[in-house]
Amino acid sequence: MQEQLTGGCLCGAIRYVVRGQPSYLTHCHCPTCRKASGAAFLTWLTVRTSEVEWRGEPLALYRSSAAVERGFCRRCGTSLTYRHESDPGEIDLTLCSLDQPDSLRPEHHTWWEYRLGWAVPEVLANLPTFARSMEEGRLPPRRRRREHAPHAEAPLE
Ligand SMILES: [Zn+2]
Ligand SMILES: [Zn+2]
Repeated sequence: MQEQLTGGCLCGAIRYVVRGQPSYLTHCHCPTCRKASGAAFLTWLTVRTSEVEWRGEPLALYRSSAAVERGFCRRCGTSLTYRHESDPGEIDLTLCSLDQPDSLRPEHHTWWEYRLGWAVPEVLANLPTFARSMEEGRLPPRRRRREHAPHAEAPLE
């Protein structure tokens, strides 16, 4: 039996458990996913609707197109779900809302023709990387910027 997957939103008001086998693990580069998440692309997995058990607060829903509803947390804004009316038995979950997002491996890119010019392997691979923040790196002070901590903590400045 498949080990169960757990996840939830950033603030913890919404939690879920998945029983069953995820499929169609994709990085979606469509402009709607990009706008809905504020990220360069959004990574999804598909499961049977009946195999997801929800806990905590109900999802807030936004109809992003005539046949599509996107679910998110009304408190913290985390994007969580995508449902298309043509497939009521299936629901997509944002892979990175899983507690262990590294436990699954995306299989493909979809809507690739809409990708951002800088969200492609050859560009990403050529950027400098910092194991943690640039603050702990080597740039002079005037180049420093506020950066993201792994979790919402006290502001850095
Ligand atoms: Zn939340
Ligand atoms: Zn999309």
